[in-house]
Amino acid sequence: MRLRTPCPATPRSWTVELRSHPSGLTLVCRQCPHGNGQVTAASARSAALAHLARHARNDLRPPHLRICHCHERGCRWHPRHRGCTGPIRLLLACERGGRLWRLTDACSSCAAATAQAAVVPDTMLARTIPEKPPAPHRRSARQPKGPGEQTRVRDMLSYLAAALPANTSAAARLIALQCALRMNRSRQVQLPKGLLRSMRLDTHRPWHELQQARWLHLLPERTANEAAAELLDVTLLEQAPARPDRRCAAQWALRASSRARANGALPQLASLYLAAHTSAEEGTGHSEADTMARACGTDPATLPHVLMSLAATGLLRSWRACQDSGDLHWTWRDDDELGMRTAPPEPPPGN
Ligand SMILES: [Zn+2]
Ligand SMILES: [Zn+2]
Ligand SMILES: [Zn+2]
Repeated sequence: MRLRTPCPATPRSWTVELRSHPSGLTLVCRQCPHGNGQVTAASARSAALAHLARHARNDLRPPHLRICHCHERGCRWHPRHRGCTGPIRLLLACERGGRLWRLTDACSSCAAATAQAAVVPDTMLARTIPEKPPAPHRRSARQPKGPGEQTRVRDMLSYLAAALPANTSAAARLIALQCALRMNRSRQVQLPKGLLRSMRLDTHRPWHELQQARWLHLLPERTANEAAAELLDVTLLEQAPARPDRRCAAQWALRASSRARANGALPQLASLYLAAHTSAEEGTGHSEADTMARACGTDPATLPHVLMSLAATGLLRSWRACQDSGDLHWTWRDDDELGMRTAPPEPPPGN
């Protein structure tokens, strides 16, 4: 009798490389013979991510058949290791300054220890469902589909941690999150300037930063009251959630970060990250410091100062950094539920 679990026939681990030639860039997939093709510098990153996402989508497996491929390869993808534990996640990792992208099944422990990587939520891989116009009599009673706003924001923060260059500022990440949640089916987005002012992000710098990272392309402003852009990350469109649900998540994100606005972009993004990772029932949360730092575009050593400032503003009741594990633990303030009662006024839709 064989007790060993059969090894999956093909590993759920895919790698693409972007190779430069005098004539341009080629996308080379190590797993598929026909995965190679010319790409432009502007589309390279999103073409790589879209190619990897397609592989994962064509190879969906039940959780008990998924294994840690980092472990299978001797855990060479990360420096330190505390043993393979936790559920298997889909990890997107970037190496060689964005020249190599890998999407792989890895245990939570390996995922947390891998630099320049982030967990890609399963919702990102759900097949795109065309947005059907709702039947007229059901229009007013539309039920949101899929996970709630908090989960959607958490998933998007995790995705952007991998998809944006590591040195992307907190201000640019806040704008990227709003853009990703509010874009239309043509990947275009208009953000009202009033909304940007309310976030204290009404400067050109973060936009230019995202344009430099080739994550978006700025469009000429149609009116003086809004900023417009086309998102170049085609993987974003593979999300299943319908636009109204994404828009609700964008509002949730605004509310969750509203109290920290006066403190600057990093505390604002940090408070959003904490809100997205706080258990609504218990009012507490925890995160690896490395993972939070990656999502906030900062280094782990900065986080204690940020958490201290958030505690001083009353946003956190308490927090501590675990000496052994490096994990951060916090208790959300108890006078409201995850920032939901301090809602700013709803800005006009950015169609
Ligand atoms: Zn391929
Ligand atoms: Zn590992
Ligand atoms: Zn592992």
